[in-house]
Amino acid sequence: MVDAEKKCDICGKAFENSSKLNQHKSDSHKNLAKVKKTTSNSSRNKVTAIAAVIAMIIVVAVYLSENQQSPATVIQGVRCDPTESIDFHIHAHLDVIVDGKSVTVPAGIGIKPNECLYWLHTHNTSGVIHIEAPQETTFTLGQFIQIWDNTPSISPTFEEIINGDKNFKVFVNGFEYKDSYDKIPLNAHDEIVIVSGSVPPTLPQSYEFNGL
Ligand SMILES: [Zn+2]
Ligand SMILES: [Zn+2]
Repeated sequence: MVDAEKKCDICGKAFENSSKLNQHKSDSHKNLAKVKKTTSNSSRNKVTAIAAVIAMIIVVAVYLSENQQSPATVIQGVRCDPTESIDFHIHAHLDVIVDGKSVTVPAGIGIKPNECLYWLHTHNTSGVIHIEAPQETTFTLGQFIQIWDNTPSISPTFEEIINGDKNFKVFVNGFEYKDSYDKIPLNAHDEIVIVSGSVPPTLPQSYEFNGL
C-alpha cells in the first residue's frame, strides 16, 4: 500500500518513497510549480495594488480635510493663519468719509483673537491696513472689505459704516478710481479714501506711515 504522502498531490501518481516523488514533481510538474509561483506573485501584486489604492485614499482624505477648514478661515483666497506671515509685508492706509465726516476704521479687522490673523488686517484704529502674507500677492480693497464684514465681533461693519451705500466712491492717492472697488489693488503706502455721500473739497492724498 502506498503512503498518501508518497502520492503526487498534483497528478495522483504513487511513488515508493518521497525522494522519488520529489524527483517526479520536479521533472513533471516544474511548469506547474512555476505557474503556481507566478500566481502567488500576481496575488502579491494585487496586495501591493490594494495597498497603493488605500494609500492614495488616505492622501486624498488628508488633502480634503486640510481644505475643509471652516469656510471663514479663507475669505476670497485670503487665509487666516495662526501666526503672522511677514515674508510679504506692506501697508496701505484707509480713510472712510461718510457725509463729509471722517469715520474710524475699527481695530482688529481680520484678527480672530487667540485663533488666527487674515493676511489683511488692522492692528489699531489708525486706518493702516497691514498686508502680511507668506508670498508677494496683489490683494484688493474688495478682499479687505470682505474680511472686515466677516471678522466676528468687529463693529461697525463696513456695510454699517456706509449705511449700505452701493455708490460710494474710492480715491487712491488723490485720484478717483473708476473701476469696481473689488479691483483696487492694495499697494505699499497707498492712501485710499472711501467716500459715501458728498465728496469734500479736499481729500487726503497720502499718509505718513512713520517707517511702516
Ligand atoms: Zn500684523
Ligand atoms: Zn504690518
